[in-house]
Amino acid sequence: MMAFNSLTDRLSNAFKNLRSKGKLTDADIDGTIREIRRALLDADVALDVVRSFTSRVRERALGAEVSDALNPAQQVVKIVNDELTEILGAGVDRPLNFAKNPPTIIMLAGLQGAGKTTLAGKLGYWLKDAGHTPLLVAADLQRPNAVTQLQVVGERAGVPVYAPEKGVQSDGGDEVSAPGETTGDPVKVARDSIKLAKDKLYDTVIIDTAGRLGVDDVLMKQARDIRDAVQPNEILFVIDAMIGQDAVKTAKAFDEGVDFTGVVLSKLDGDARGGAALSVASVTGKPILFASTGEGLKDFEVFHPDRMASRILD
Ligand code: GDP
Repeated sequence: MMAFNSLTDRLSNAFKNLRSKGKLTDADIDGTIREIRRALLDADVALDVVRSFTSRVRERALGAEVSDALNPAQQVVKIVNDELTEILGAGVDRPLNFAKNPPTIIMLAGLQGAGKTTLAGKLGYWLKDAGHTPLLVAADLQRPNAVTQLQVVGERAGVPVYAPEKGVQSDGGDEVSAPGETTGDPVKVARDSIKLAKDKLYDTVIIDTAGRLGVDDVLMKQARDIRDAVQPNEILFVIDAMIGQDAVKTAKAFDEGVDFTGVVLSKLDGDARGGAALSVASVTGKPILFASTGEGLKDFEVFHPDRMASRILD
């Protein structure tokens, strides 16, 4: 344990020689900006994002009143906290954008290992629990195991899975595999799954797509082709909270590649301090809708900007 662990402690220390009351001055703020920068970098916020964030905080802090109620350190922490919550909370007044005419189509995109398939199960389970009739769709035909993995996830969640192979059985009550020959075309799988959802009255379709270890033009085009074919109501970009400094590059690539509508932060049960959340939110301006917090079906929640802000500042 360090002596000054939290940002509040660090700032209090930075301010310990400050006696005057009144407004915060440039000189006061300079010392604290360094502490804020360190705290954010410790939380793995990307460097560029730290820079723009601290300059906004400086602007807001300059001339801010220092009162008896809030000492200078508390005052700056409040500004930092407000600013964080604002960026992280952009648009979090909707958990999901449901279609007026079902099915609602939700497409998942992200790097391999980000947690898409796991999320498909969680989202399906969550929706089913809320009275929906979800269908999971295996449109990741890149990895040999991906279809099977989604089927396992679907079985666990009790949610049917639409998969391209002939005769593949899924749990959740229905046999929903594509009839006929196996197809290797994920766009066709996605398109067919929507037809099936309309026929069988599944009200939500969750499409799992392929992801590579790095950003990949071919797969990005494939994701875009799927998107254009089915026109999803939501395109959720799933990102591993542990990704750290790479968050910006990855988020930008997917934002340009598929123009996602919302973010899901996965693996928040790990050690990550959540800097990726701030990086992604500030670089893309897209809302973070959900947090994934473990390997279990219920390790999933609607995203809370205020909790994330304190986690980053802790
Ligand atoms: P995909 O390649 O994007 O489909 O990623 P997967 O869903 O296969 O997840 C990759 C690995 O991360 C698997 O071992 C999952 O069990 C694990 N995983 C996914 N989400 C979480 C999470 O929120 N917390 C933890 N601890 N592990 C997760």
